[in-house]
Amino acid sequence: MIVKYGLPQKVIFCKECVQSNQRPGTSPEFVKKNLIVPTAEFDENGVCLTCKYFKQKKKIDWILREKKLCELLDKHRRTDGRFDVIVPGSGGKDSIYVAHILKYKYNMNPLTVTWAPHIYTDIGKKNFYNWLNAGFDNILITPNPKVHKTLTKKAFLNLLNPFQPFIIGQKNAAPRIALQFDVPLIMYGENQAESHVTSEDDLTSPLMKSEHFSTKNPNDEIFLSGVSEKQLYSEDNISKNDLLFYRPLPLEKIKKKKIEIHFFSHYYNWSPQKNYYYSKQQTGFETNEDGRSEGTYTKFSSLDDRIDGIHYYTMFIKFGQGRATSDACRDIRDGLITREEGVNLVKKYDGEFPKKYFSEILNYINLSKEKFWERINLARSEHLWEYKNEKWKLKHIVS
Ligand SMILES: [Zn+2]
Repeated sequence: MIVKYGLPQKVIFCKECVQSNQRPGTSPEFVKKNLIVPTAEFDENGVCLTCKYFKQKKKIDWILREKKLCELLDKHRRTDGRFDVIVPGSGGKDSIYVAHILKYKYNMNPLTVTWAPHIYTDIGKKNFYNWLNAGFDNILITPNPKVHKTLTKKAFLNLLNPFQPFIIGQKNAAPRIALQFDVPLIMYGENQAESHVTSEDDLTSPLMKSEHFSTKNPNDEIFLSGVSEKQLYSEDNISKNDLLFYRPLPLEKIKKKKIEIHFFSHYYNWSPQKNYYYSKQQTGFETNEDGRSEGTYTKFSSLDDRIDGIHYYTMFIKFGQGRATSDACRDIRDGLITREEGVNLVKKYDGEFPKKYFSEILNYINLSKEKFWERINLARSEHLWEYKNEKWKLKHIVS
């Protein structure tokens, strides 16, 4: 049997949420070289590390954490007309929440920074401008679409991860603007641990490690879409000049300017549902007009990019767990639904094909339907999928 992506052959589901042991974590190495890193461990009772983290979260003294936040903001607050904090985001509920609280509760002067979606949805664009209308300056970085499409297509074909170039560019956008405007404090919304704990570090640090958004040496080669930049030059008619926004800053510069990325979720008891109600009230944030997003039962997450559905679908093909699983895990851990309800929602919605923007996305990356499905089916690992009665079926479903 061929087990792909270094996944564990034996499929186990968490006893408390609906997560399996098939979802790998990300690490700087993963981002640089597209390696899959070991999957999160389960403890001796069959409970995933993320569920354990959510139990620990209940014991956190949030008043103390807020005090720490105030100290951090006091250290950075400026009254001389310059920006004092960068809030990266797209105008989704989470970035609205963070920027709004920093400005109106803590009197900071945020600059919001947006790495443009591949193709905006109508609702995403509306939410984005409603966010800014609530009183924010914004720098919108739109990567060269010719280059971005090429990278996205290549990432789909090489990694079955069309989102990878977007994520790399997004990660490096805020530090670049921070350097330019001399704003050392960057405030992200949620820490990785909120959705997927892969190491103990995720739990305790308010900071993103600088290795996630910098290179050791200015001349370090970068890896994108599954290949080195040199390969992009020779295979795709891409030049060094085309890759500036995908290139992390050298560590030396990050250190010299003391640029730090903090997670707001470290200081505030993070809740996507709470962020949704807050942003709806403060900026008129709107949810998916179809009532829910394809592949899941929720309506308020990842709404701005027409490629989102395909991104979650590729995750479902590679790891057997899709968008509904992610949402159900979160809601179970937050006590909003029971595990049983979560199981039913996964059975009903996980892996639903995102057909709404499918043709448009194929057009965007210049790929035929046949090639798309050929690549999808090549990506199925034998330990997860079987072909029966002319249909692909998952071998293991949460119960
Ligand atoms: Zn769990």
